[in-house]
Amino acid sequence: MAKLESLLLAVILTLVAGFACAGDVDRLYVIDCGWAHAVDQSLWSPGVNVGVPIDLSNNCYLMHHTSEGYLLWDTGITDRLAGLPDGQYVQATGQTWHRTQTLVAVLAGLGIKPGDVHYIGISHVHPDHVGNVELFSGSTLIMQKAEWDWGLKLSLKPFRPEHKAQLIEGDKDVFGDGCLTILSTPGHTPGHQSLLVRLKQTGYVVLSGDAVHFASNWEHRRVPGFNTDKAQSAASMEKIARIIAEKHAQLWINHDKPSSDARRHAPEFYE
Ligand SMILES: [Zn+2]
Repeated sequence: MAKLESLLLAVILTLVAGFACAGDVDRLYVIDCGWAHAVDQSLWSPGVNVGVPIDLSNNCYLMHHTSEGYLLWDTGITDRLAGLPDGQYVQATGQTWHRTQTLVAVLAGLGIKPGDVHYIGISHVHPDHVGNVELFSGSTLIMQKAEWDWGLKLSLKPFRPEHKAQLIEGDKDVFGDGCLTILSTPGHTPGHQSLLVRLKQTGYVVLSGDAVHFASNWEHRRVPGFNTDKAQSAASMEKIARIIAEKHAQLWINHDKPSSDARRHAPEFYE
């Protein structure tokens, strides 16, 4: 009987070890990765607030995982803009983009070199999200295969085709411990993805990329006219809403300037 008990105990211990969290995300830095003034917010909210200007924030998010190291979520608008005091106007979207400081300088302030960032998750391949991706030439890009394929068909390639990449299809628990879970949220672009982060003190946070652009669009579930698929966009917002309810998660809308301004930015961090 004692033998049977010790055998059962061994089986239970093995199972517990198998399901235990392999690590934690112990720090999440919100990094200012540029901002834009747009002349007409109805580009993102068709028929609503036509001709009304809006300022948009743009953040990168650096996470430190206790056993896998650094993962950077999005790389922001190109660091080159930091040298342009008046920013750069983009005719297609009626936006003037600015950058106060470079991503590399912010990382250096944290004592981190681009080579220390082993993983880069890309929400999608628009320039305000992949602007600095090639500064991290040795990092593994984690992207949806659909986004990779779509990006490489664009006339201006958002990344080098030979960049090391882990291409996924659908949701993915990145390190297999539930700390960082990529959520497939297509619609803004064909392979758009969001990230569910689990933090010990803060709890769950959804980094929604551009699945939604600002708070009123989230409230009213509005889909920008230039999204690649309207039905997918609506379904992705519902998926995010379901996960938020399930996990009691916070939604951090990347381009929503009022909520972004209220958040702690690097060198401060969330635990
Ligand atoms: Zn964007």
